[in-house]
Amino acid sequence: MTDRFPKSLLIDGKTLEGASDGAIELTEPATETPLCAVPAVGEKEIDQALQAAQRGFAQGSWSSSNPAARSEALFRLARAIRENCERLARIEARNVGKPIGDARWEINAGARCFEFYAGAITQFGGRTIPVAKNGFDYTIRQPVGVVAAIVPWNFPFLMACWKVAPALATGNSVVLKPASLTPLSALALGELAWEAGVPGNILQVIAGRGSVVGDYLTGHPLVRKIAFTGETGTGARILRQAAGDIKRVSLELGGKSPNVIFADADVDAAAEAAPMAVFANTGQDCCARSRVLVERSVFDRFSEGFVAATKRLIVGDPLSEETQVGPLVSSGQRETVERYIAIAEEEGGKRLVGGSRPQSPGYYLAPTIFAGLPSKARVCQEEIFGPVACILPFESEAEAIALANDTQYGLSGSIWTRDIERALRVARAVESGVLSVNTNSSVHQEAPFGGFKRSGFGRDLGVEAMQLYTELKNVYIDLSGGK
Ligand code: NAD
Repeated sequence: MTDRFPKSLLIDGKTLEGASDGAIELTEPATETPLCAVPAVGEKEIDQALQAAQRGFAQGSWSSSNPAARSEALFRLARAIRENCERLARIEARNVGKPIGDARWEINAGARCFEFYAGAITQFGGRTIPVAKNGFDYTIRQPVGVVAAIVPWNFPFLMACWKVAPALATGNSVVLKPASLTPLSALALGELAWEAGVPGNILQVIAGRGSVVGDYLTGHPLVRKIAFTGETGTGARILRQAAGDIKRVSLELGGKSPNVIFADADVDAAAEAAPMAVFANTGQDCCARSRVLVERSVFDRFSEGFVAATKRLIVGDPLSEETQVGPLVSSGQRETVERYIAIAEEEGGKRLVGGSRPQSPGYYLAPTIFAGLPSKARVCQEEIFGPVACILPFESEAEAIALANDTQYGLSGSIWTRDIERALRVARAVESGVLSVNTNSSVHQEAPFGGFKRSGFGRDLGVEAMQLYTELKNVYIDLSGGK
């Protein structure tokens, strides 16, 4: 099959095939061969896009439109995404190295995200507040203005949808900047949005190097709100950039999430599920449960099951229907992960499985499990963003909670137990924004998603996300007639 890759930026209703920072050459992670190139913006194109976004917002045909009109356009976009699922999934599989089945899931989840906000916006409003007998007090939610949405390379399409859908639904104009490694699906999303009737100055998509244009975009006075997903260090930098203008900021950042297995759980089910809780998307997942904490009495049984299930994972060509784990996104990312494997060995870790490259081309690395490391070891503390898990024993519930919280991050995690009271106690005590019990499934379109501690603040998904893209206004009307 010949794949058609988007090659133009989408600025002010026009497609641009060249830009002032040259081109970004993309490589296919599964083959290490050139994929295609896209133009890279400089300050000139960012000015152009933000001025168009500001004009579009001020003109009001989107921001002040009837919510039903925005809803219809977003439903049309969702339909177009579903109709183009195969093309988009292949773009994602080839650009990111993501298994095609996972890529299809991601594209459909993106469509579902637009459907959710297309529906939710017609029910999103303020409230009336009883402040006085002779007065009427009410709140309204208004769009913030120009939103810069900056997304990472691990779930490029879905992260773009998580930002763009609630921002557009609530009436903002958006400039979307995907990661320089993976700009293709965001550009394709922009094309479909324009075709579905989203105005060309209300959603624009640029591609560029974060190191070249990141500070300029986030410090730009026309940007009212920054919606960011990426590394904690980049998030901190963005927060500093935003401080001068008191821009609205929401940050979805890194993670080092626990998978806590108590002896009273269905230990075999937990062991069977544990590999994809950390190795899905080749471990390049902010929610990866990379700190596996197991009650001592079932430690050996769980470890054997976890290792055996990991050995059964099908690692290979992202375009093959059977593949469960693809390559890493880039050669640099694989080298980073290999450095962590070396550090784990220097720190005395015992490698139970994995850790090696296959002979074939592609940025592959076998899923890797370490035991025998203390919680303070670097590989148990730092986000590796690759297929590496550490397994640690605990003696008591209190120790399990202490280990689960022994990290600067607080994004996600799972708890496996048959004791409902324990599940409720531990879920309350673990400092993470998104937890699941007896499953690894903790991300749902309808429910809020986001982090504690250095995993960020603000929430994607659910009705909560719409609050982030709106200002809350309170109005009081005096009805006393001067009496
Ligand atoms: P990254 O921080 O390097 O890049 C993210 C985006 O920011 C990219 O578009 C990049 O070009 C841009 N960028 C880089 N420097 C910038 C700057 N100075 N100013 C503005 N933008 C800049 O992250 P990544 O390597 O693409 O993604 C991996 C990270 O994302 C991991 O830490 C992962 O945990 C995190 N992540 C978090 C979530 C979540 O929901 N919490 C989801 C997915 C990924």
